[in-house]
Amino acid sequence: MDKFIPVTQPYLPPLEEFLPYLQKIWDSKLVTNGGPFHAQLEQALCDYLGVEHLSLFSNGTLALITALQAMKITGEVITTPFSFVATTHALHWNGVRPVFADIDPRSMNLDPEKVEAAITPQTTAIVPVHVYGNPCEVEAIERIADTYGLRVLYDAAHAFGVKKNGRSVLQFGDMSVLSFHGTKIFNTFEGGAIICQDAKTKRRIDNLKNFGFVDEVTVIGPGINGKMNEVQAAFGLLQLQHMDHVMAARARIAERYQSAFRNVHGLILHEVPAHSTRNNSYFPIRITREFPITRDALYDAMRERSIWARRYFYPLISEFPTYRGLPSASRSNLPVASEISQQVLCLPIYPALDVKTQDSIIDIVLTAAGLNQHAS
Ligand SMILES: *Cc1c(COP(=O)(O)O)cnc(C)c1O
Repeated sequence: MDKFIPVTQPYLPPLEEFLPYLQKIWDSKLVTNGGPFHAQLEQALCDYLGVEHLSLFSNGTLALITALQAMKITGEVITTPFSFVATTHALHWNGVRPVFADIDPRSMNLDPEKVEAAITPQTTAIVPVHVYGNPCEVEAIERIADTYGLRVLYDAAHAFGVKKNGRSVLQFGDMSVLSFHGTKIFNTFEGGAIICQDAKTKRRIDNLKNFGFVDEVTVIGPGINGKMNEVQAAFGLLQLQHMDHVMAARARIAERYQSAFRNVHGLILHEVPAHSTRNNSYFPIRITREFPITRDALYDAMRERSIWARRYFYPLISEFPTYRGLPSASRSNLPVASEISQQVLCLPIYPALDVKTQDSIIDIVLTAAGLNQHAS
């Protein structure tokens, strides 16, 4: 196989379906600053996700930075090292000191007990991540936040459409942030959103993403330019109509991997807790010491066959130069995250991944495991 197989690929609806939207933009000359498609997409996403207050952004990182600004977060914030680097960068851009706490080995999300142990008089907030779309222990985190008077901002970049006990995970915490980057299950090429819990807060966020403007002559604070433009918003509206297909295709691929790897010694599949839906935004496997070859050897074997599986999340955020000097970044403080970061491998999953290609990926894993029955 010489075709390059990425870990994910954006779903792009048929181009001719997008042209009428572009025609409307060309006719109206409304290209940004909260145009009609922007308003429609905010409402459509609220309906689809089961939330009430959502503000679109040009990307998820600016949404994270603005959410922290809107809550005036200062001092120290407890967060996970097992995430995409933007989670911690958003804290850094707010002049906030990140404090890393370890993760739970099953969920790979922040361990509430470790969060509680990391609280100091300077702590103002918790920034957990629903890694791979797997819900955090939202009730335990809420209890801790209420007890200590902390704000909670969820990085929900992976958690589009995820529900826990029938309720959107985006309804927990003070705010949640989504990413609509091309690698995410719902994409607007680049894009993101803040979900908050009341209309007043949404208004403040809407002002902050437009330089702080409230009206023509009033600027309420140091806002930023985080606005989503009309082409992105229109694409989001079209993409939303195809989400059933996207979700079903991903679920099919995930099931095929699961049944192939169910009883492979030394390979751990990612379990989603009962009462949670899974959006199959990623397909992580963990290669432990009992597997015949290392995670990196398996990763290399895939690269040789043009399959670009990804080691999300390796290195840990706490291992990058900007953060590794922090006391909480030490390996001894983060034993679970450090181990899992060495084990994890995310396999290709996206609607256009065909059965034959998926079988060749499964083949590589089973061959490495010494279990291969089908000759390749
Ligand atoms: C993708 C991602 C982001 C950043 O979102 P962008 O839209 O790419 O800026 C932040 N956090 C996590 C966990 C992500 O996966």
